[in-house]
Amino acid sequence: MVLFYLALGSNLGDRIQTIDQAIARLARGGDIRPLRLSSLFETEPEGLVDRAKRFINCVLEAETALSPLSLLDSIGDVENAMGRVRPGGGAVVSRTLDLDILFYGDVIVDCERLQIPHPRMYQRRFVLAPLAELCPHRLAPPTRHTVRELLLKLDGGEKCQRVREGREWNPQEA
Ligand code: AMP
Repeated sequence: MVLFYLALGSNLGDRIQTIDQAIARLARGGDIRPLRLSSLFETEPEGLVDRAKRFINCVLEAETALSPLSLLDSIGDVENAMGRVRPGGGAVVSRTLDLDILFYGDVIVDCERLQIPHPRMYQRRFVLAPLAELCPHRLAPPTRHTVRELLLKLDGGEKCQRVREGREWNPQEA
């Protein structure tokens, strides 16, 4: 089994329910075992072309025996099942659910469909703040810094407010 970290975000519909249901769905197939969920943070939407609600963001720590690409397929299935619409043309729009693989063990992946560590995660407070609750001392390649150090180095900017405390995942929820 490999330990991995998954970022979850939602800014449409019942955002908190969407996140909880997404984790239950990930667990249901049996290939993914959720372990701990960070606090939920409410954050300002950035760069969205439509009029947008604020995001709920968090990070899940989980285990899997799936390969990185199979894991990507599984999270894509859950995004689609939760009603994610992907417009053409690359426009950034509101989304019911966005799932990104942040770390997958210590494996570095750099192919067309998948890059791990996720390439933009180190600039994002809404990723680093929840991730630092789960693994503050983990090294964040290719930087030589830990997750907590990267969070402390971020400039002010985006607001990120804790709206629910983190917790162990309860398998009954699946
Ligand atoms: P989006 O859902 O808009 O954030 O983008 C999803 C696309 O990003 C997917 O089609 C993936 O092929 C690609 N991608 C690249 N690296 C990652 C990653 N670490 N986690 C999730 N998706 C990734």
